[in-house]
Amino acid sequence: MWAIGLDDDGNALPASDRPFCGARTRAGGTCRHKVVPYMARCRFHGGKSTGPRTLEGKTRIAEAQRQRWARWRQRQQKADDDKHWKLAGSVDGFRG
Ligand SMILES: [Zn+2]
Repeated sequence: MWAIGLDDDGNALPASDRPFCGARTRAGGTCRHKVVPYMARCRFHGGKSTGPRTLEGKTRIAEAQRQRWARWRQRQQKADDDKHWKLAGSVDGFRG
């Protein structure tokens, strides 16, 4: 488990506790970056996704991101409403 950046329970270890990637570099040495959890190599050596490549994949991630932002805006709107209520209450308290 440790070799792929996980503890005995399968949880991701902090970067400082993960092993080195160890891939052979062009300079002839070994890579000293930490491995990505669940992978045996660092993010430069095949550890991490390069993101959507096909039009279908790009469309899917764009749509998911639009929905995330829509939810975020809803939360902001609600937080704003709460603030106005509190502000109105404090003004009353000041004058009272
Ligand atoms: Zn590496």
